[in-house]
Amino acid sequence: MSCLFCKIVEGSIPSRKVYEDEQVVAFHDIQPQAPVHLLVIPKKHIASLNDAEAEDAEVLGRLQLVAQQVAREAGLSESGYRVVTNSGKDAGQIVFHIHYHVLGGEKLALLGN
Ligand code: C5P
Repeated sequence: MSCLFCKIVEGSIPSRKVYEDEQVVAFHDIQPQAPVHLLVIPKKHIASLNDAEAEDAEVLGRLQLVAQQVAREAGLSESGYRVVTNSGKDAGQIVFHIHYHVLGGEKLALLGN
């Protein structure tokens, strides 16, 4: 198994997990781009949003609900937060295991600026 985030799921690479259930894991990004920067990933290996299929609809929905939960637990519900997934090289995707970034804790620059 060569996928970095699959290794985080199985625990052979350490991470600072904030959430785990049978389908989803969330943990702190090692190079935070905001005061709060969490990653929410499925345990199932899906390379990117571009590779998701109809059968992944449930887990894709779970990812968003877990993003909402970990943002709330990080105290971001009122101030707001951003949920982003990079898909493919032009978007800057580095790890090819789908992940949603949850960013907040400061006023974020508008996308594209
Ligand atoms: O969307 P993208 O693929 O560029 O983001 C990958 C993210 O995974 C980066 O923000 C990087 O800091 C993070 N990462 C991590 N733990 C690792 C390797 C990468 O949090 N062991």
